[in-house]
Amino acid sequence: MVEPITLYRKARAPRRFLAAEYVELTMHFQCNLKCEHCMIEDSMGWLKPESMERFEQILQRNAAQRTWKGLILTGSEVTLRRDLPELARRAREAGFEHVRIQTHGMKLASVEYCRELVEAGIDQYFVSVTAADARTHDAITTMPGSFDKTMRGLENLDGMEGVTTLTNTVITERSYRQLPDVVQRLGHLRRLAQMDFWNFWPMSEQDPKDLIASHLDVLPYLREAIRGARALGRSVEVKNFPECLLGEDADALENEQPKLIIDPDFWPEFMRNGFHQCVHRDYCGARRCLGLNTAYVGKYGWHADVLVPLPKEE
Ligand code: SF4
Repeated sequence: MVEPITLYRKARAPRRFLAAEYVELTMHFQCNLKCEHCMIEDSMGWLKPESMERFEQILQRNAAQRTWKGLILTGSEVTLRRDLPELARRAREAGFEHVRIQTHGMKLASVEYCRELVEAGIDQYFVSVTAADARTHDAITTMPGSFDKTMRGLENLDGMEGVTTLTNTVITERSYRQLPDVVQRLGHLRRLAQMDFWNFWPMSEQDPKDLIASHLDVLPYLREAIRGARALGRSVEVKNFPECLLGEDADALENEQPKLIIDPDFWPEFMRNGFHQCVHRDYCGARRCLGLNTAYVGKYGWHADVLVPLPKEE
């Protein structure tokens, strides 16, 4: 059952972390998990990580221009880089106020490793939590024991001064029913500042693994999760969901991303998603909406009678 739709544009909620204040550097393209929703699983083998020369260039550029407050170290699983603490130290020495890593969090199960990263200057941790329980999470990551390690990692970080954690849960056919439970499962974490919910996009014109869930099925779970996370004092960001369907919760939609520095060969793959498709696009006033993508339309159609164009600004 779809709740009544908001026929006005909902302003974006105040953001705790502004995408424009961060630059994202892809420093590693290997992973020791095989998540079924991995958006770069086909390209991970040939995408080239940024070189140390490029890393230093970004540091020097930012030291001179102060364009960004924070550096995000990412790629596939950046904790597999042995020199990760050294990269963080260099970034802090060069003046970055924050260094964040994006991680599946397994290695954080070691409290000594967490301490090493924190002491090196990594103060923000964006951790993938794919589901609310070990059985589902481990099935998604295809790694038995991964949920317990990731949870232990988040709890280790929760005990460390100066640390902020963020989580992301990718919304797929397998995970969407658990979104509110994920919020509750992480309810004890004091340092968890933000929960993200990224609606899966397949980097393809099709959905070969049948992972895309219908927006109409996802909607009540997603809205409950948004409200639950906010009730716990978290900020929330939702990506790739139709703005008009979210009603009063549309202020959680945030499709802005930090400046991404990545192998240029990534972009043709990304463009295969074909975002921004909607039968109402020409006259809809939504400014943050990515509409539907090619694989979604192929699977579920246009939802022309459910999506409601928002008024344009006067
Ligand atoms: S572009 Fe389409 S999906 Fe997005 S808000 Fe407008 S009508 Fe809804």
